[in-house]
Amino acid sequence: RTKSDLRSDHTYFTREMGVEIRERVRMMHALRAAFEAERLYIVYQPQVEIGSGKPFGVEALLRWKNDDGELIPPDQFIPIAEYSGLIVNIGEWVLRTACFELVRISELGFQQFRMAVNVSQAQFMHPLFLQMLKRALTDSGISPQNLELEITESMAMTDPELVIANLEKIKEMGVRISIDDFGTGFSSLSQLQKLKVNKLKIDRAFINDICIGTDEGSIAKMIIELSQSLQLEVIAEGVENQLQADTLRTFGCHHAQGFLFAKPKNKNDLYSWLEQHI
Ligand code: C2E
Ligand code: MG
Ligand code: MG
Ligand code: MG
Repeated sequence: RTKSDLRSDHTYFTREMGVEIRERVRMMHALRAAFEAERLYIVYQPQVEIGSGKPFGVEALLRWKNDDGELIPPDQFIPIAEYSGLIVNIGEWVLRTACFELVRISELGFQQFRMAVNVSQAQFMHPLFLQMLKRALTDSGISPQNLELEITESMAMTDPELVIANLEKIKEMGVRISIDDFGTGFSSLSQLQKLKVNKLKIDRAFINDICIGTDEGSIAKMIIELSQSLQLEVIAEGVENQLQADTLRTFGCHHAQGFLFAKPKNKNDLYSWLEQHI
């Protein structure tokens, strides 16, 4: 290779990177504009008792349709919202909207219904997070124990001291905590014990494993046993077929969320779905 070959490789590489960064910046501006124009919305996916199919809660999931009417998956835009700091305001809006939605659901006759809300790391670590949470609770008037914050395992590992302190304060407020996508992060078991969360949410990947391979569902089974020995609640996400649901029950997991029971729904569809599944 000659020197000029190397140089042209190098310029090619940086140009590609430039394209990627420009694309990210473009998306960030579009996301901010969509948020400001109130074009983000929330869908709600029911969480049910596996045996009866009866709902006991919902998870709030953020949606963004861009100007062309295309849905951008949250896995694509949440990282951009985090990276740009937009997540702090967007996350506050999600939390408040979800709390007020829970009030409407309880007015429909669903008492002690739960609302699960995803909280990202940048939001959770923000110095005003606890204040924001308190305000959402008092303004909406919901019972704190009906609100559940979903945090990720990796979050719990980044700054354990601050996380533990925050979790304790959240617990004092009566708000519940679950660890989302459990089994995909790296939390140590001793750390898990220290965190004093209420629930483990088994990652979809392990539910998927239930119908294939030879070690069918062994990780899901292990997480369920772990939740039992730590006296935590457990829920399976991404349950798509009856075999998975039945297997989970034999393992001792009675709560699930997934397309088998219900897809995420806009609020009007949710109301009629709830009324049919009361
Ligand atoms: P998550 O919190 O683990 O949410 C569950 C995801 O699994 C949702 O994807 C849901 O639509 C999908 N899902 C549920 N049941 C099934 C099923 O049976 N099969 C399959 N294949 N998928 C199922 P979604 O809505 O695309 O959200 C992706 C992720 O984006 C969420 O994963 C969460 O980490 C993040 N996210 C969504 N909304 C918010 C939000 O308001 N704030 C934050 N910080 N993150 C959010
Ligand atoms: Mg979640
Ligand atoms: Mg999850
Ligand atoms: Mg997930």
